[in-house]
Amino acid sequence: MPKNITPLIAGNWKMNGTAAALAEIEALREGVEDTPELRCEILICPPATLISRMAEKARGSAVQVGGQDCHSQKSGAHTGDISAEMLADAGATHVILGHSERRTDHGETDAIVRAKALAALGSGLVPIICVGETEAERLAGEALAVVERQLAASIPDEAGSRTFVVAYEPVWAIGTGRTPTTDDISQMHGAMRKLLERRFGEAGSRVPLLYGGSMKPGNAAEILAIGDVNGGLVGGASLKAADFLGIIAAA
Ligand code: PEP
Repeated sequence: MPKNITPLIAGNWKMNGTAAALAEIEALREGVEDTPELRCEILICPPATLISRMAEKARGSAVQVGGQDCHSQKSGAHTGDISAEMLADAGATHVILGHSERRTDHGETDAIVRAKALAALGSGLVPIICVGETEAERLAGEALAVVERQLAASIPDEAGSRTFVVAYEPVWAIGTGRTPTTDDISQMHGAMRKLLERRFGEAGSRVPLLYGGSMKPGNAAEILAIGDVNGGLVGGASLKAADFLGIIAAA
């Protein structure tokens, strides 16, 4: 992990958690306060219903709170959707965009993800743009090409002068307990770094590149030690403060 980028350990709670789960944030906050040398940024992205209450509980601590999606428009007739401005108003600092579950469940294309990222930047949020190949694409030898295509098309040009994050999440590693080899992660992150540098110059060398997919306390240190891995996007292991603190300790 290069030293010039502060690692980000981000938790994605997905559609999990009601008010009772806020106790995990209290435990996380205490655990983080007890961590002697904190060397990473910490973010939890709960369901939208918990953002403002979680932000209240996290206030004054190193724990930041984010959304899991936003609409590309500022407001209007979009029943059930949430704008970037609303997330920021609720206390979010970041928003996950283009997660493979949204690409699959909601048919989100790279163009939609790009429009959402632009909206997030416009509301002062840091977009975490997710990319990653399916198992069939990896087996067909297309992983690099798929990720490079998603990366090129999902990031708006305007992001070059702003802060944004990229998460490489192989779809087949999400929630399965399987992870790519360290060589495969290294190759993918190296390719993403090159692409970002070609497109955005020096700014591209400063974009945090997260790995996501079955990251746990037991494998975090090995994954986070890979060159060009600047943190993790963590699903299942972010739901319990003890597990998430184990990953933070590895960073
Ligand atoms: C995710 O959904 O972003 C994720 C990485 O999930 P998990 O850690 O559970 O594989």
